[in-house]
Amino acid sequence: MAGIIPTLQRMKFSDIIGQEPLKQRLRHTVAENRVSHAQLFLGPEGSGKLAMALAYAQYINCRHRTPDDSCGECPSCRKYSKLIHPDLHFIYPVNKTKEVDDKKVYSKDFVAPWREFLLQNAYYVSLPDWYEKIGIEKKQGLINADEADGINRTLAYKAYEAEYKVMIIWMVEKMNATSANKLLKNLEEPPDKTLFILISENQEQIIATILSRAQMVKFPRLQDADIQQALEGVHGVNAADAGKIARLADGNYTVALMLAGKTGSGSISLEAERERFIVFREWMRRCFTISKELKEYDKLQETLPLLIGDGSREKQKEMLTYSLEMFRICLQYHVGNQQLVKLDGEELAFIKNFSPFIHPRNIQKFDEELNRAIFHIERNANALIVLTDLSHLIARILKIPATPQPKKV
Ligand SMILES: [Zn+2]
Repeated sequence: MAGIIPTLQRMKFSDIIGQEPLKQRLRHTVAENRVSHAQLFLGPEGSGKLAMALAYAQYINCRHRTPDDSCGECPSCRKYSKLIHPDLHFIYPVNKTKEVDDKKVYSKDFVAPWREFLLQNAYYVSLPDWYEKIGIEKKQGLINADEADGINRTLAYKAYEAEYKVMIIWMVEKMNATSANKLLKNLEEPPDKTLFILISENQEQIIATILSRAQMVKFPRLQDADIQQALEGVHGVNAADAGKIARLADGNYTVALMLAGKTGSGSISLEAERERFIVFREWMRRCFTISKELKEYDKLQETLPLLIGDGSREKQKEMLTYSLEMFRICLQYHVGNQQLVKLDGEELAFIKNFSPFIHPRNIQKFDEELNRAIFHIERNANALIVLTDLSHLIARILKIPATPQPKKV
């Protein structure tokens, strides 16, 4: 979808992937007229917190809502779909950028990229992608104290058009103590007809007083079947690929979209994942033959260029991280947790064959050596040397038997 920026995203409950019990619960709060003024949507990345926040807010303000959903057609719904409703406000972490380098920066300085970011990704977004979008991936985003003052000012006015003013604070854990304390006043004595939806992925990092003032709505990871269905139905991905992506995404729809190549940023795709697998398999086969016969050693030179790639250290690190993950998957398979192995086809066939050699007696050594190699690559060590050494170590560790051998007499 790169290059195409939709200007309108429907966001009704029916557009949300899975999470039926939560939709039901939120609809109830409206039907029974007990919408809590401060709610915390807490859950892992890609579970649909932000999408749900918008669907909920749109539903509350819809002029023709039914018991099930908003209408999607009334003036309020239309403005919501374009994120231009005057009573809908967002706060999100930001930092100085090349373009915006005033002394202090605020969410409002980034309204255009924020809207584009949400609409482009249908509200299934991640913090790293946002940082990348505005070019602050090397810094941390923050919600500063002045931002909280701004919230207080914004909410002091009566709603322009809507029944409820809605303030969505995305990643509320990025508020520091000063800014959180300023917000707290509002949560304790909320202006009339105001709804705060705080969104977070990390409960431990939220200031305790905020936590205690908000009603918690917990988002579980999505079901594989729901992800698969959305990829097929909404994005036209074929059933086989959709199933595979759903398993790899592990309940995270943001990752699923990335794997399907349906987001602007998309640093990994199903194809790249497949290439990594092929390199890993080739490499392990080579290490295995070396472990059997040392004279195979020379042939390592044929395999190493695959690992070194175009020389990008980032990619080398990704390859090693992927390998680490594959070792852990093999271990799961080895110890009988086959249901945790979310792979199929050639990948699964390989894991079946390879898993007898990865077991509780050697996994820690693999782990240590791969992490050590990642550490060295990060610090600009010569990749050829690091990977040659690592291959030898892997060959040696593969020889460790799964069960202790009886002592020779
Ligand atoms: Zn409506």
